[in-house]
Amino acid sequence: MSKIHTEPIVAWRLWHVRRHEDEHRLESFTWHHVSWPARRRFEARCPTHGEAAPVHGHECGIYAFRTRELAEDLLRRYTGIRQHYGRRYHELPPLRQGCPIALGRVSLWGRVIARQHGFRAQYAYPYELFLIGGEDGLARELRGLYAVDVWPS
Ligand SMILES: [Zn+2]
Repeated sequence: MSKIHTEPIVAWRLWHVRRHEDEHRLESFTWHHVSWPARRRFEARCPTHGEAAPVHGHECGIYAFRTRELAEDLLRRYTGIRQHYGRRYHELPPLRQGCPIALGRVSLWGRVIARQHGFRAQYAYPYELFLIGGEDGLARELRGLYAVDVWPS
């Protein structure tokens, strides 16, 4: 069953960090060119269900994992690298096209459907980000834009 959550659930996910004109944005990891707005919630949209997303028996909603380890597993599958990322991270992985990645915690609320390894949610906003392949300048820019903690590589 989906539940209405007025208190956010904090889960884990990945984003691409891509440049849009003169500033960087967080982008969906799996849906290209879907960027997350700064300082307002990201809202789930479904081509079939529209604003009713997430819907049971469909793939829609904003995805997040229950644990950091599950998000890291996806990152390992993506980069082919077996390492732990975060504050103690020192070496840059060979990122595709040199595009930085953000691993981080995300707040989820509204209608939230629990799934085996995580959640599909109606609303989301980043909570804390760890950059992979991103230096101090990029961390500062994203911190200013999204108003959340951002840790450089
Ligand atoms: Zn749907």
